[in-house]
Amino acid sequence: MSQPNVPFPQSPVVPNMVDGSHVIQFSCHKGIGCWNACCSNIDISLTPYDILRLKKRLELSSAEFLTKYTFPYEFEKDDIAGVKFRPVQGGSACQFMTPEGCSVYEDRPTACRYYPVALVSMRKEGEAFDTASYALVKEDHCKGHEVQRSLTIDEYRTEQGVVEYDELARGWRQLILKKKSSGPSIGKPSLKSRQLFFMACYDQDQFRAFVASDAFGDLFALSREERTKLVGDDVALMEFGFRFLRQVMFGEESIPLNEEAAKARAEKVREKRMQIEREAAAKLARDESGDDYYRDED
Ligand code: SF4
Ligand code: SF4
Repeated sequence: MSQPNVPFPQSPVVPNMVDGSHVIQFSCHKGIGCWNACCSNIDISLTPYDILRLKKRLELSSAEFLTKYTFPYEFEKDDIAGVKFRPVQGGSACQFMTPEGCSVYEDRPTACRYYPVALVSMRKEGEAFDTASYALVKEDHCKGHEVQRSLTIDEYRTEQGVVEYDELARGWRQLILKKKSSGPSIGKPSLKSRQLFFMACYDQDQFRAFVASDAFGDLFALSREERTKLVGDDVALMEFGFRFLRQVMFGEESIPLNEEAAKARAEKVREKRMQIEREAAAKLARDESGDDYYRDED
C-alpha cells in the first residue's frame, strides 16, 4: 500500500484532484484475489492521532510503540520529522498483517482507511485555512476497482471512519502546511524546535511528562487544575501540543507565559534582533570594502 500522500508527494501514482462528491467504484472484501496485497508492500505515514489510537490498543508507551513499529523521516533536510510504519524485518509487509487481514483493523491508521483514496491538504497563498482535495490511487494489483459498487468519496470516508481521524489530525496538518508555506521568513527550525515537534506530535507520553513537570509550570501560566486535566486526557493533550508548537515555531502566543518567563523571552528576542542587525551591518561593511577593492583593481 503506497500513498501519493498526504500531504507529502511520494507515490508514482499521479493524482487527479477531485472533491468529496466524486463517485468512485470500489469494494474490498476478504476472499478477493488480491487479499492483503496492499499491506504487503507498505509506505505509510502516521498522524499523531494514528499513534495515539495504536499505542492505546497495543497497551504500549509512545516510546515503545515508536521504537517497535515506526521510523522517523524528515519532510525536508534538517526539517521537522514525520513517522512511518516500520515493515517486518527484512521485508516490506506491515507488521500488523495476518492471513485473516489487519490485526488492528478498528484502530488502523488514516492512510489505510483512505486507501485507495488519498487526502491532499493544500493551502492557497493568502488563505488562512487549508482545503482538502482527494486523489484516486489505482495500483495494478488492487482488484477492488473491478467490483461493481459505486459511492462518493464523502460516503467512503464516512464508511471507513476517516472523518474523526481527519478532524483530529487537522492541527498537525496545519502545522506542516504552515511550515512549508512560510518559506525563508521562518527559516529552518532549530534542533530544539524539531525535538519539541517530535515529542508533542509523536512521543506523546514524554510530552505528557513535560507538561506535568515543574519546568513547564515555571514557564507557562497554566493552573495546576488545567495541567492535571490536560495530562489525563490523551486527545486534549495532543491538541494542546499543536497549540504549543504554533507558539514555539511561529510565535503565535496562545499559552500565557509566567511574568519572569515573559521577561526572559522578551530579552532573548531583543538580543536576537540586535545580533541580526549586527550581522547585517558587518555584511554591508564587507560588501562595501569588496566594491572598493574591485574599483581599485580597475
Ligand atoms: S495497519 Fe492494517 S490495514 Fe494498515 S497496512 Fe497494516 S495490516 Fe494493512
Ligand atoms: S482490493 Fe485493494 S485494498 Fe482490498 S485487499 Fe486487494 S489490494 Fe488491498
